[in-house]
Amino acid sequence: MEQSKGRRVILFPMPFQGHINPMLELAKILHSKGFSIAIIYTNVNSLNPSTLNPNFTYHSIPVDLTENEASIKDPTLRLSIINAKCVEPFRECLSGLLSDDVNSEDPVACLISDPLFDFTRSVAESFKLPRIVLRTGGAASLAVFAAFPLLKEKGYLPITDSRLEELVTELSPIKVKDLRAAMPNCDPEDFYRVITNMVNETKASHGLIFNTFEDLEGQALATIRQEYYPNIPIFSLGPFHKCGPTTSSSSTSLLSPDQSCISWLNTQAQKSVAYVSFGSVAKIDHAQFLEIAWGLANSGQPFLWVVRPGLVQESDWHEALPNGFLEVLYERVHIVKWAPQKEVLAHPAVGAFWTHCGWNSTLESICEGVPMICTPCFGDQMVNARFVSDVWKVGLQLEHGIERGEVERTIRRLMVEKEGVEIKERALNLMEKANHCLKEGGSSYLSLDGLVKHILSL
Ligand code: UDP
Repeated sequence: MEQSKGRRVILFPMPFQGHINPMLELAKILHSKGFSIAIIYTNVNSLNPSTLNPNFTYHSIPVDLTENEASIKDPTLRLSIINAKCVEPFRECLSGLLSDDVNSEDPVACLISDPLFDFTRSVAESFKLPRIVLRTGGAASLAVFAAFPLLKEKGYLPITDSRLEELVTELSPIKVKDLRAAMPNCDPEDFYRVITNMVNETKASHGLIFNTFEDLEGQALATIRQEYYPNIPIFSLGPFHKCGPTTSSSSTSLLSPDQSCISWLNTQAQKSVAYVSFGSVAKIDHAQFLEIAWGLANSGQPFLWVVRPGLVQESDWHEALPNGFLEVLYERVHIVKWAPQKEVLAHPAVGAFWTHCGWNSTLESICEGVPMICTPCFGDQMVNARFVSDVWKVGLQLEHGIERGEVERTIRRLMVEKEGVEIKERALNLMEKANHCLKEGGSSYLSLDGLVKHILSL
């Protein structure tokens, strides 16, 4: 798109894998439309520009956490410290980029930031720089988060344990237990404050971008447009990673993906493998780790399991397994620290994805037509999982925690029994829709056009 040549967009991802991936994919899409791209990133969970798209410029800002601050377990407190420490370095970096602008051939059109980086609003406003936000989660979860004040009024929040299985009638099929969004080690009230702040920061922006598509979340997008954000333009141009040119040489992973996954998958029968990964943040304990291991072993299916450093709390996971466990399973198990997940999900040997339902993982699975087993842990994952199991019906949820018998039964229901065949059909159907929306005239294709025009009009 010629008219975008000569305009620059600055993008500023939150320093977490699930936020970095979609932001850099969005950068790639905008670059393919002719924009120049500048990426600002923090030295916390720092990006490595040498592995990233060489067509962008990268600008690191220092966030000097003390040893104490870096080891804080409460995620909301850590987020507020990172936010506070980012303000001045971000202001300086932005000021530098904007002062280069005076004689620049590609003046800055706008900033695209994460709404959880709440300070970006006031800093951008102080430079009179339009700010658009990228919500890296889905639309349905934002619609639920935006309803928190109403849910408080109606008495669903704070949550009472005796009501967990109750339906939230205003948000059917969401159940009360799906509202348990607070991360471990943090006070639910603090967490709700962070969420409310994010919802409000988004209102005060020049636009809201989602990595989703109309056929997937049309209803939630309509609610968001009409009820919560009637005054800002909303764009849904996902799935990002399927949109625009593929740049296989660049990797946005903070950990290095273990390519042995692919050679191992090449030795497995079609649709036979359960791929298991709980993303980059979720943690499980020793007991849960063992239940997963036994459930997988007893299911009889081969499995590829991502055991990321830090996934299992307080112990070396090897010590948790009974002696000889891996040797007995031998060819039926492959364990890695980090997988090339998109490639794994696209591999013909993968028949199911046992996931924590982070939004990226959910979308990546949908794009490959891989049915899911859901174990949501916190945040938007509960809502995503409810949509997977009860709305799109492309997966099954482990509703009562992780227990080996339940794990074994659920894997067999999905991968062996008739119920699984129907779920797979629906998953393939949804995959078709994900492909279709990106084609010329499709909803995401048109939304991207709209976004490009909007940025150029700012
Ligand atoms: N991911 C990966 N390899 C792994 C596990 C995860 O590349 O072994 C990627 C995955 O493809 C996704 C991101 O990490 O893009 C995780 O984001 P998500 O929203 O699913 O979960 P989060 O990590 O934010 O909880």
